Amino acid sequence: MDKQYDVYLVLGSLIISFLTSFLAIAFANFIVWHKKSASQWWLFAAALNLGLGIWAMHFVGMLALHLDTAVAFEPIRTIVSALIPVAASYAAFWIILSHQYNSNFDRLLFGTFVLGSGIACMHYLGMDAMQMFPQIVYDPILFFLSLIIAYVASFIGLKFFSKSLETSNRTIFSISNIFSSMVIGVAVTGMHYTGMAAAEFDYNSYCTVLEEGIRFGNLALLVIVAIMSLLLFSFLILAYEQHVEQKEQAKNRLMLEHVTSEVARRTAELEYQTTMNERLLETMDAIVVVLDKNGFIKQFNLAAQHITGYATHEVKDRPVWETLIPQHLVADVKKRFSNLPSSLPNKWQYDLLIRQGGVVTIDWHNSVLLDENGEVLFIICTGLDITQAIKDQEALKLSAVAFETQEAMVVTDASGAVLKVNQAFEDITGYSLSEVKGKTMKVLQSGRHDKAFYRAMWACIINQGYWHGEIWNRRKNGEIYPEWLRITQVLGKDNQVINYIGSFADISQRKQIEQELEFLAFYDSITQLPNRRLFTDRLEQTVKANHSTKQHLALMFIDLDNFKHINDTFGHAFGDELLAVFSSFVKELVPNSVTLSRFGGDEFVILFTELSESYETAAFQIEHMAQIILDSLADGLDVRQQNVYISTSIGIAVSDCSKDDAGSLLMKADTAMYQAKAMGKNTFRFYTDLIGDNMAERFKMEVALRHDLTLTKEVNSPLSVVYQPQYNKDKKLIGAEALVRWNSAELGVISPVDFINVAEESGLIDDLGMFVVHRVLSDIQQMEWLFNESSLDHISINLSIKQLTNPNLTERLLLAFEEHQVLSSKVRFEFTESAFLDNALDPKALFAEMSEEGFSFSLDDFGTGFSSLSYLKDLPISELKIDKSFVDGIPSDDSDMTICSATISMAQKLGLEVVAEGVETQEQFDWLAQQGCNLLQGYLMSRPLPYAEFVLLLEK
Ligand code: C2E
Ligand code: CA
Ligand code: CA
Repeated sequence: MDKQYDVYLVLGSLIISFLTSFLAIAFANFIVWHKKSASQWWLFAAALNLGLGIWAMHFVGMLALHLDTAVAFEPIRTIVSALIPVAASYAAFWIILSHQYNSNFDRLLFGTFVLGSGIACMHYLGMDAMQMFPQIVYDPILFFLSLIIAYVASFIGLKFFSKSLETSNRTIFSISNIFSSMVIGVAVTGMHYTGMAAAEFDYNSYCTVLEEGIRFGNLALLVIVAIMSLLLFSFLILAYEQHVEQKEQAKNRLMLEHVTSEVARRTAELEYQTTMNERLLETMDAIVVVLDKNGFIKQFNLAAQHITGYATHEVKDRPVWETLIPQHLVADVKKRFSNLPSSLPNKWQYDLLIRQGGVVTIDWHNSVLLDENGEVLFIICTGLDITQAIKDQEALKLSAVAFETQEAMVVTDASGAVLKVNQAFEDITGYSLSEVKGKTMKVLQSGRHDKAFYRAMWACIINQGYWHGEIWNRRKNGEIYPEWLRITQVLGKDNQVINYIGSFADISQRKQIEQELEFLAFYDSITQLPNRRLFTDRLEQTVKANHSTKQHLALMFIDLDNFKHINDTFGHAFGDELLAVFSSFVKELVPNSVTLSRFGGDEFVILFTELSESYETAAFQIEHMAQIILDSLADGLDVRQQNVYISTSIGIAVSDCSKDDAGSLLMKADTAMYQAKAMGKNTFRFYTDLIGDNMAERFKMEVALRHDLTLTKEVNSPLSVVYQPQYNKDKKLIGAEALVRWNSAELGVISPVDFINVAEESGLIDDLGMFVVHRVLSDIQQMEWLFNESSLDHISINLSIKQLTNPNLTERLLLAFEEHQVLSSKVRFEFTESAFLDNALDPKALFAEMSEEGFSFSLDDFGTGFSSLSYLKDLPISELKIDKSFVDGIPSDDSDMTICSATISMAQKLGLEVVAEGVETQEQFDWLAQQGCNLLQGYLMSRPLPYAEFVLLLEK
């Protein structure tokens, strides 16, 4: 059977195919573009268009074919042939759009398979619906070609479709959409016409279902109506959707425009704000320093530059502590930055180092900027320089303090009304500020001054600007008091008075203080007695007043004996109390008319006036007085419930005023007092011209001794040493005592009894003593050389107590012994008990030190002092010397002899050697030897001998 096609219908089938494909692709696009909820409907619409498009195209294509035989279509097959492509289309779009498959390519393959198969199935099922007999035969090559076209074109179409989905461009008329629908159209039509070309109709073939099948004409009508209404309906929907879409897009565009303009506006605003801020930052008086979290400076405004003197470029991007933080605060700041932001207080006062040196104090306000993670971005520190404010505040405090002085201060206004008073004002006047505020100072007027006084005062203030003077005022309690008042005018700019400032001091108090000061200056605070100054003053006045009369005056100079000892033993407070007790004790004894004064230390002086015109009577009166004082003291004084025994040495000078002035009177009494001391203390002495002569004598002696001590190295030295031999009871020579001799060129031979004293008092004793030591040591050295370790046991050298108190004694002795190469055991040192009375000396320590060096000691004049036996036990003493005064008593004085024998036996018991000195008779020698005295020394055996003579004794 020939196949002839109606060209118009073929064209119609092509149009149907392309249009429905396009609509299907468009709806499929909507699935993606629109809301999820509607996606099933769009999928269905797409499937319906494509599926029915395929079906309609087929039957229109069939219409275009003129067959020589009438045909009809079996209804079931026809209906199924419509459902298949719809289902296949649905599945294909669903696969392409679903995301269940991993790759795009997988989806494309499956979609292609389903769609291609759907197209092919529809076509061949549609052919089968004609039920031709004999059956249609298909050319296998063309059949396969039709399948290939269906699959390949489906693949390409779907590929473009899925590509169109990827573009953001939301238009259904996109190139890929149009191309995609064209290619799918080609798949359908291409497959159909190739499939038709493959079909071979037998010439005799006919349709077997002409009767019961759907008539060709009916079907054509149905297809055309169906497809037309579908197309119409679909286009309507499409148009509507396009309209909606366009509206939406217009809305979006509008919104976008709005957003864009809003962004632009805000950006401009922000820029403006930023520049404003920057300007503001630069014009601000406050310092602004912006730091990052590491303490690096990021911003440094103009005020900061002005105050610190650093330009921005000098500090920017460097740590703040490199330039701006004082050295002692650097560690603190660094620590704070290691612990941000908690370590940084919002407000604090902190010093800033400035370029020109020094610091300024800034009142900082810190605020920390954090990012969204809470990390520190920046720290904005704003601050004000409060250095001056602090200074001002301090100055204000200071002036407030200054106002509160000891002086009363009152400030009034120009009319004289009180504005302000200080504490001292309130204290002095008794009025508080509230009581006088607004009133004038008239409230204080005492009534002692007349109107003229006040007129003169104000005239002075107005003319000179100030007034000062003494004025009597009245306190609130009515008491009238003198004050020293100063009123000063305070002028304003235009020379108008704005204030008066009055300051005054209560001089009643000052007068009292002056009295107290006067007392301190003229009286002794311990005894309340006149001091030396006041006493001398009075004495001078008295002497002057009595200059022309023959009236006698007497001065009594009283010095406490051994007062230093009491001070050292009981303490100075006790000593002070003793002085006070002593002064009142003396006051009781002397008449009221006398002047008693403490001269200083333990010295008191009494001035007696109105004595008799006769020297003898006057002297007798004073002697009596002195005796009373000495006797009364014998009972001791009560100090702190303790009975203290103290004696005094009193010097007295009696004179009539025509002979002596105050100075010479004092000097005489003083000299007499020294005399009393020299006489053994606890006694009084009158000054006589003889004493005066003695003093002169002593002075001469001191000068001569000082001179002669420089001559000891000369051949004919005025100073020399003699040796008095010491024997045992068998008259064997055992040792000797070295005694110093002085034959002064000027004064002649002087006894050591006299010049040792002078040497001690003048400080020459050290040199004199060392002269003796050197001389004795060199003599020993010579004797040892001469007699080859002489038979002499030792030589004794006298040491004065003044020598013993010299701290260098041991050292000097050791040097001398070393110099002369003499063993320390070859010398014995004699000292007297008076050494223990001097408190400057610690005998135990000294003797221990010296005996450690090998020296031995002899206690001289034993029995004449206080002979404390404890010293004999405690000190390293080797020998006792019985004093000549006891030996003198042998054989006539029993008590002397008892003392001698007791001393000897005690020495024996203590294991000490004992020497009797001053042995002058054989009787004394024998008796002493009989008592057990082993060593004897005296004129009986030998006088002290010069070295040359002494050596002769040894040769025997
Ligand atoms: P003293 O230590 O008690 O010395 C003994 C004194 O008695 C010596 O007198 C001696 O010449 C004298 N004498 C000795 N035997 C007799 C005697 O049988 N009859 C009499 N009437 N007198 C005798 P001198 O030398 O005048 O010394 C007097 C005092 O001078 C000494 O007393 C001693 O305390 C002191 N003295 C002497 N030389 C020195 C010395 O070198 N240094 C120190 N510090 N004092 C010395
Ligand atoms: Ca002696
Ligand atoms: Ca002696």
